[in-house]
Amino acid sequence: MHGRCLCGRVKFEVTEPISACVNCHCESCRRQCSAPMTTYIGVPDGQWSWTREHTTVFNSSPGVERTFCSACGSPMSFRSKTMSDVMHFYVAAMDEPDVFAPTLHVAYEEKLPWLDLDDGLPTSFGPDYTKPST
Ligand SMILES: [Zn+2]
Ligand SMILES: [Zn+2]
Repeated sequence: MHGRCLCGRVKFEVTEPISACVNCHCESCRRQCSAPMTTYIGVPDGQWSWTREHTTVFNSSPGVERTFCSACGSPMSFRSKTMSDVMHFYVAAMDEPDVFAPTLHVAYEEKLPWLDLDDGLPTSFGPDYTKPST
């Protein structure tokens, strides 16, 4: 499966199975994507690669690396030291975003109050999707 930025200077490849697909409401994702929430997939190292790399890395907090296209600015990925063997890509950057369905909301305590979601998915406080709280 492939993904790319808006201008196409960044391309990447993902091999299934992915480890997770979640909606994230945390302020950092929200600000990086300039969107009220984002949806990302977790991909273990060894199952993804840049096929065209033109990214800039930004450390949004200690131990968290976020990348974006150096030309068009599209947010591409983030990874955290606390899950150092997993890369996260935004589903909206995938060529086929419809095939990835989220199973959980994380950082739900940061959800914007006017964002009205009625999808029946479980919710979790904090960023850790490996330990859902509900
Ligand atoms: Zn680009
Ligand atoms: Zn987030």
